[in-house]
Amino acid sequence: NLTDKFERAFKVLKGQGQITEINVAETLKEVRRALLDADVNFKTAKEFTNTVKEKALGRDVLTAVSPGQLMVKICHEELVELMGGNEVDINIKGNPGIILMSGLQGSGKTTFTGKLGNYLKTKKHKNVLLAACDVYRPAAIDQLHVLGEQLGIEVFSNKEEKNPVLIAQAAVQHAKSKGFNVVIIDTAGRLAVDEHMMDEIAAVKKAINPTETLFVVDSMTGQDAVNTAKAFNDRIDFDGVVLTKLDGDTRGGAALSIKSVVNKPIKFVGTGEKMDALDVFYPSRMADRILGMGDVVSLVERAQEQFDEEEARKLQKRIHKDQFDFNDFLGQLQQVKKMGNVKDLMGMIPGMGKAMKDVEIEDDAFKHIEAIIYSMTPKERTNPEIINGPRKARIAKGSGTSIQDVNKLLKQFGDTKKMMKMMSNPKNMMGMMKQLK
Ligand code: GDP
Ligand code: MG
Repeated sequence: NLTDKFERAFKVLKGQGQITEINVAETLKEVRRALLDADVNFKTAKEFTNTVKEKALGRDVLTAVSPGQLMVKICHEELVELMGGNEVDINIKGNPGIILMSGLQGSGKTTFTGKLGNYLKTKKHKNVLLAACDVYRPAAIDQLHVLGEQLGIEVFSNKEEKNPVLIAQAAVQHAKSKGFNVVIIDTAGRLAVDEHMMDEIAAVKKAINPTETLFVVDSMTGQDAVNTAKAFNDRIDFDGVVLTKLDGDTRGGAALSIKSVVNKPIKFVGTGEKMDALDVFYPSRMADRILGMGDVVSLVERAQEQFDEEEARKLQKRIHKDQFDFNDFLGQLQQVKKMGNVKDLMGMIPGMGKAMKDVEIEDDAFKHIEAIIYSMTPKERTNPEIINGPRKARIAKGSGTSIQDVNKLLKQFGDTKKMMKMMSNPKNMMGMMKQLK
């Protein structure tokens, strides 16, 4: 699935110190393939990867974040952007507010009409009327009545009338005279886009002038969903999209491309056949779902919060000038600790969760190290090379450790310093602590 593909795509970047033209190209090729496999159309996928590339190359990699994680973050931001940024509310203002459903047969219009009625009734405390305007299938009218009864919502219908425009108008009239806040008009769809259906929905729209026209689309239809959305939008200029059947083995691709092709927000998603299986569409959550990479995004966000960029830059400089000392080391240690339990942290990295299960990292490892460093004089911390035999003995005694422990830390500190100079990455420090225990 898409998640696995993204995970594979980002493996390419793992363990590399900076985002460069070369490693980014390989990753983006994989990301693009993953998007195309998920039925995102070619143009959207290409624009997406181009934007991600531009942003990635311009960005500094913080000490706390690997290039792969930063790429995930940038991809996440771009996905959110692509899907419209923020959630967009449904407009139900009016006396009554009129919501018109459109979409192909089987897309989930009637089901969603019930769900939305239920949502507006229970969550927004509106007095809702449902109107059955699918005149071609008597069963469709019964279907809405069954839902209305189940939800305790009135359903307006007229089996004698064959003109959906007249039924819709009568429903609005009924809602007005009876003081309903909102009327939701369910309409007929066909199996494929055809002129007759378009003429009909356009005529209904013109006659009742809805406050909100929603286009309902089955998210499992992939690329077809985008073509259908375009056909409907060209004709009736709808206000928002409802993406149904996101509970199944769905292709996230539809959500990605529809917004960019028709430039209309996705407002709701359907996640099941039951009447409460409706969710407001949040681009950020959808991006989480599409990336689905553990909690990488929040890991990166936390890292960015904790690691002041300015501090990181200063540290970088000290490392390059070979001035990295035990005070810096301690600072880094505390930063890592602030970010949470090391094991939790590692578990957030894709693929690491399983690997870390067998590895024991005790918080004691930190305490040991901290104790030793705290037992050093300020001079010893800035100039570790002065730590001779007697000093080691004093430090060991002061910290409740052994001379071997102190030697181990000094050796590891030296190695780390070298390593950090090559690639300032705290992951190395974690590895070091593991050995030190
Ligand atoms: P319409 O022809 O557009 O009115 O579509 P319907 O509302 O009759 O729905 C067609 C089928 O899709 C029905 O069997 C519904 O139960 C099912 N359905 C609708 N929305 C969802 C959804 O979000 N998830 C799932 N799993 N099934 C849905
Ligand atoms: Mg229907």
